[in-house]
Amino acid sequence: MSVLIVGSTALDSIKTPKAENPRLLGGSASHAAVAASFFSPVKLIGVVGEDFPKKYISLYRKHGIDLTGLQIEPGKTFHWSGEYELNMNNRRTLLTELGVFEKFTPHLPAAAKRTPFVLLANIAPALQHHVLDQMARPKFVVADTMDLWLNIAMDDLVKLLKRIDGFVLNDSEAHQLTKEDNVFAALKKIHKLGPKYVIIKKGSHGSILSGPKGCFICPAYPLHTVIDPTGAGDSFVGGMMGYLATARGSVDANIRRAMIYGSVTASFCCEGFGLNRTIKTTRSQIESRVKELEKLTRF
Ligand code: AMP
Repeated sequence: MSVLIVGSTALDSIKTPKAENPRLLGGSASHAAVAASFFSPVKLIGVVGEDFPKKYISLYRKHGIDLTGLQIEPGKTFHWSGEYELNMNNRRTLLTELGVFEKFTPHLPAAAKRTPFVLLANIAPALQHHVLDQMARPKFVVADTMDLWLNIAMDDLVKLLKRIDGFVLNDSEAHQLTKEDNVFAALKKIHKLGPKYVIIKKGSHGSILSGPKGCFICPAYPLHTVIDPTGAGDSFVGGMMGYLATARGSVDANIRRAMIYGSVTASFCCEGFGLNRTIKTTRSQIESRVKELEKLTRF
């Protein structure tokens, strides 16, 4: 089964204490789509401007990503720039140029409307609603978000939570949403807002799932060097959804293992700027890190 992914398709200029890289392929949907493509067919819904480099289109294609739903509009591609502090955890946004994103209305091609697995990657909640409005009874819908939408679009976001199966957010966003310091208390409160599955990401400390079968503590793959963590969260949820879409059996039966695959895919993302390392990853490299994580967590 395939995954439909909607989100930002961007050019990212990223600065770390060690290096600076302008206009890399980025955006929540790009990271999630490439991650998911290791496991299942992917349909990408997004918008880019006429300045979007052809080599990035080729890169999506190389990963077998269906681009029928990628709109190319007159104007500039969404451009985001961020700078990391020495600890590589704290990041500040230097620039956000919306470009063609400002007037983006996602239009789903007919075939995309029947995709069983849907990932509403980080994008304005109103656009996430608009995609759901066009879908014909998807099997499993997961949404991601960011602090910006909690600040400026809380009503839309709360309405969205009633329409989705799973919600993925990081620990600071969970605190912002629920005002709870305790992650388990926050999970409980978020369930009450609608989603059956809630995943709180804790960066290099992994993530926690709360679902119908209880909680699962998913580790992050231990990395000794992080080059650029941009898109790690998107790679995590993209990898998880890609794995779920092809796994046999129910979501309940597979979601823990799917999170491990997402976690491993995200680890590759952190080892290079933008998507540079992820695109060189092979399925067998993913499998060997999954085995390592299995050994590290067995007791
Ligand atoms: P993450 O590191 O998982 O938080 O995701 C970083 C990605 O989010 C980058 O590739 C950016 O292009 C993208 N991004 C940054 N700001 C926004 C925004 N306002 N809406 C959608 N995507 C964004």
